[in-house]
Amino acid sequence: MAYKKFSADQLFDGEQMVAENQVLIMDNNGVVEAIVPATDAGEGVQHFSGVLSPGFINCHCHLELSHMKGAIAEKTGLINFVYDIIRLRHFSEDEIQDAIALADDEMTRNGIVAVGDICNNALTLQQKITSSLYYQNFVEASGFTAVVAEERFQRALQIRQAFSSHSLPASIVPHAPYSVSEVLWEKIIHLDGNDLLTIHNQETIPENELFLERKGDFLSFYEKMKIDISGFIASGKTSVQTFLPRFLQEQQVILVHNVYTSAEDIRVSKTAGMPQLYWCLCPNANLYITGQLPDISLLMRENCSLVFGTDSLASNHQLSVLQELKTVRTHFPEIPIESLFNWATLNGAKALRIQDRFGSFEKGKTPGVVLCKEDLSQCDRLL
Ligand SMILES: [Zn+2]
Repeated sequence: MAYKKFSADQLFDGEQMVAENQVLIMDNNGVVEAIVPATDAGEGVQHFSGVLSPGFINCHCHLELSHMKGAIAEKTGLINFVYDIIRLRHFSEDEIQDAIALADDEMTRNGIVAVGDICNNALTLQQKITSSLYYQNFVEASGFTAVVAEERFQRALQIRQAFSSHSLPASIVPHAPYSVSEVLWEKIIHLDGNDLLTIHNQETIPENELFLERKGDFLSFYEKMKIDISGFIASGKTSVQTFLPRFLQEQQVILVHNVYTSAEDIRVSKTAGMPQLYWCLCPNANLYITGQLPDISLLMRENCSLVFGTDSLASNHQLSVLQELKTVRTHFPEIPIESLFNWATLNGAKALRIQDRFGSFEKGKTPGVVLCKEDLSQCDRLL
């Protein structure tokens, strides 16, 4: 068996930068064999300048919205963003499919190997059947009034079936706290085997206002959308404190955005009976939509398991985990580079439950190999 042997200025193994003069050895199928000292690596080592890392995991994307690149104005707030998505998302199927194929290719070139992808339809199915990327499909259900719950749930089941019939992993997930009724929530949570979940969380201030005091911009949003919320009672708690206890303890949940998450929210998230949580950062989408970033230092201090997502091209200029990492580096220079790479690789793989194949250079895995420039401006796929 012939081997590929890589070394670089820095070698990140999924958890840390390994000592200098180490060589990554993989077989021709991209299976990790070992990391060994250069003196034991023998002939044929290729040396690169920059950082070598396992392939990146993008825990939050909406591939089906790729055709909306540049369609929505920046920094107009989440509620206007949601209006625009609803108003502008309809394009011809050819345009949508072309954009999906380009976005899949863009992620591949940007060193991404696996994606947690939100689906409101099955338009991405054909691309995913042939793609070299691994996709965990999160079929999104929404509907804030109880009367539509059954119809929306049945629709989500059909979409999930479209993916699972091609052996593509798929679960049904609640869209956001402000868009899922308790009736629909119960159907999702208690669906057999549906235990890898995600939800948009605390992306905007009005989301907390709604649950704390039944006030704020969501009330006019519901009115404009003709959604009757007469049955909605504020819990008196923030959104995340309201919905987290509704998940089951054995479920694993990726919380996406977390821009307005407080220390108290995190404390409550760690109390007994809560699901296993991963906190997904989508900094470039946050800057695009509201201009605000989560308190990443706080999340880190509180030992939250952090991962990265690109969100969609409707709210980002590119689909690149490395660019997300770079943005965090710019705004939080005190965060060690090793932590950022760990969130982008092994943590992401654990969040999607694919750490047996992806996320680190452990023997037997096929994580892909990415070479990043030291300043994080660019990366290339080596394998
Ligand atoms: Zn999203």
